[in-house]
Amino acid sequence: MPLTFDHSYARDLPGTYLAQTPARAPAPRLMVFNARLAKELGLDLGEDDQTLANWLSGAVVPAGAQPIALAYAGHQFGGFSAQLGDGRAHLLGEVVTPKGRFDLQLKGSGRTAFSRGGDGKAALGPMLREYIISEAMAALGIPTTRSLAVVATGEDILRDTGLLPGAVVARLAASHIRVGTFQFFAARSETDQIKALTAYTIARHYPHLAPEDALGLFDAVTARQVHLIAQWMGVGFVHGVMNTDNMALSGETIDYGPCAFLDAYDPATVFSSIDRQGRYAYANQPAILAWNLSRLAQALLPLLGPDEAEAVELANARLEAIAPAFRNAWLGVMRAKLGLAGQDASDAALVDDFCSLIEGADWTLTLRSLAAAAEGRAGDLLALLGDTQPMLAWLARWQTRLGPEAPALIRAANPAVIPRNHLVEAALTAATQGDMGPFNALLAAVQDPFGPEQGREAFMQPAPRDLGPYVTFCGT
Ligand code: AMP
Ligand code: MG
Repeated sequence: MPLTFDHSYARDLPGTYLAQTPARAPAPRLMVFNARLAKELGLDLGEDDQTLANWLSGAVVPAGAQPIALAYAGHQFGGFSAQLGDGRAHLLGEVVTPKGRFDLQLKGSGRTAFSRGGDGKAALGPMLREYIISEAMAALGIPTTRSLAVVATGEDILRDTGLLPGAVVARLAASHIRVGTFQFFAARSETDQIKALTAYTIARHYPHLAPEDALGLFDAVTARQVHLIAQWMGVGFVHGVMNTDNMALSGETIDYGPCAFLDAYDPATVFSSIDRQGRYAYANQPAILAWNLSRLAQALLPLLGPDEAEAVELANARLEAIAPAFRNAWLGVMRAKLGLAGQDASDAALVDDFCSLIEGADWTLTLRSLAAAAEGRAGDLLALLGDTQPMLAWLARWQTRLGPEAPALIRAANPAVIPRNHLVEAALTAATQGDMGPFNALLAAVQDPFGPEQGREAFMQPAPRDLGPYVTFCGT
């Protein structure tokens, strides 16, 4: 592979991973390859499809790669697991590109020392799902890991629903350091490892900070995560498993499992079949963010000062500031979506009232239709929301707040096309049956989310009502 690998994580952080060899996929076949991303990063992968399939499934370990599985812990649905780790993933190393350093990780590439009872494998549908949703997020301008390829392994794997074709997703990430990585060492009281991890994370992601500045790291991670979740909320993204092991210190969206996008706006929306309490419901994501960050603060506590009581006080002050910081970031996102330039004292009420008025209406279509409404054509908006007196009153208030730049602002902040759940599902079903056509068509559409509406109506409609509520299953 004409890639330059480096292994700074392995080099700097001994004792935080294990060397592991990926499984030998019997018949690797390239299902989708992100030539656009490779080009963007200046990665020269000018090999034939079979060689790429061999490398990106782990069947052949490319020259320079040193596959490892990372150790981490995590709170899953609130309960702590002291040992999770990469149970079905292999980090080949870091590729150093003109755009920066990226982990190249394979997921679904076989058992590791962290597999516990699992088979280390992944099914084609969920891996293609990670591919398309992460590429959609990137196109939406939201920080995320990127997908480089999905390779079918040529092996069937057993899942609840029966035998499914197996696959590996190859992804690039700013890193795979998670809140759970810190928790792993905190749970073992290995303060030296937490120090080393802090210094490493700072050097890699926040190089403006001093290596031992744990509080600075916490603040920097908080700022990025607050911004990230505010952006998720803006596009109606529900991650579905915001466990602490699925929250990256880099501030990227990571580990796409049972995630999905809102159709109708309902703050209580949950898609995942296993989230019975609604812990990771759409509107609960900011609260979970704060909860997860408090777990990070807890893991960093020994580094926050020699006096524990003072360290706790310091951390608590930071934690209390998260909710207002989030509200601010979210208002910023919503201002842009509503086409409000600058800031006005009346904005918060305008945004809050809008959100209560649109409950039950399609989130994406409604917001996008504000562009035409800002141009004096409110027909589509009122067709979606009904021309009730409160709606018309809101419209009048909103219009007086708009400047001439509003329509362009709205179109740049509100996608016409998102990966609609029913279309994703149909594309994955077809792909599992051997037809990549619908997947490729949907991929092309979601890669241009802010583009024109005309000619793309088929990708813009919410699911037909008779499909019933959408349910996702954990992507194992
Ligand atoms: P995830 O839900 O993908 O974030 O995974 C949560 C944890 O379960 C991680 O430690 C994974 O490595 C592990 N895991 C998920 N699926 C499997 C599998 N099929 N085999 C082994 N480990 C798995
Ligand atoms: Mg995970």
